Amino acid sequence: MIRSDIHVHTSFSSDCDEPMENQIEKAISSGLDILCFTEHMDKDYPSDPAKEVGGVPEFFLDTDSYREGFLKCRDKYEGKIKLLFGVELGLQPHLGKWSEEYVSKYDFDFVIGSVHTIGHMDPYYSAFFEGRSEADAYAQYFTEALEDIKAFSDFDTLGHLDYVVRYGPNKNRDFTYSAYGDLIDPILRLIIEKGIALEANSAGYRKGLGEPNPCMDILLRYKELGGELITIGSDAHRTDSLCNDFARLEALLLKCGFRYHAVFEDRKAALYPLG
Ligand SMILES: [Zn+2]
Ligand SMILES: [Zn+2]
Repeated sequence: MIRSDIHVHTSFSSDCDEPMENQIEKAISSGLDILCFTEHMDKDYPSDPAKEVGGVPEFFLDTDSYREGFLKCRDKYEGKIKLLFGVELGLQPHLGKWSEEYVSKYDFDFVIGSVHTIGHMDPYYSAFFEGRSEADAYAQYFTEALEDIKAFSDFDTLGHLDYVVRYGPNKNRDFTYSAYGDLIDPILRLIIEKGIALEANSAGYRKGLGEPNPCMDILLRYKELGGELITIGSDAHRTDSLCNDFARLEALLLKCGFRYHAVFEDRKAALYPLG
């Protein structure tokens, strides 16, 4: 059994209403040993002004308040569960220098690098797919993701590598690794070279893809290219999504040939056995 969930949101993220304490209580009652919060920090997100709070754009994390809330909870739940302080940082090609400064300013345990915007649009919104084929939109996603990582690579795991297929008009119905292999391989090679892990994000099951993000064929290709470091997270924005489908995901990772998953503390990986 996987006894950690290291991709979890709380009300410090602008798309989440779940208080931190609720996530912790649920994690304890589910038998978890480790919970890592990874709140959204997407600088220069193409925010809807209507969703700004107090002039602060959507997905811009008040990191000091988050840290303060985290430390209070860590004290309160000491001895009951290990809590880790992480962030899910939105990557964009022009944010390299800003991201480096941001990450070095805080004592994060774990940094997820995630591609949520492409050409200043979030594929979550259907406008991203308007006026072009799904294949073009997916190709643009993987092309820019590589540019993002070339611009900034001080993160520990690459979040939900095929995020874009969650929101395509046909989702993953026509999506295969091989159709985009020329674009995905350089990403996998680059993270392996830089010692960055690949996240297996179980939200894909929750979102009806029948697969994690990324899909099994991408996980297999990562392994084939020499990748060994896998992190596991549910991307829960509510307590009922915590650890969702972890047993199914664990079975799939074992089938791919992985024997361990990594949990980062103080930006260093510790390995835990699968199975
Ligand atoms: Zn994400
Ligand atoms: Zn997330």
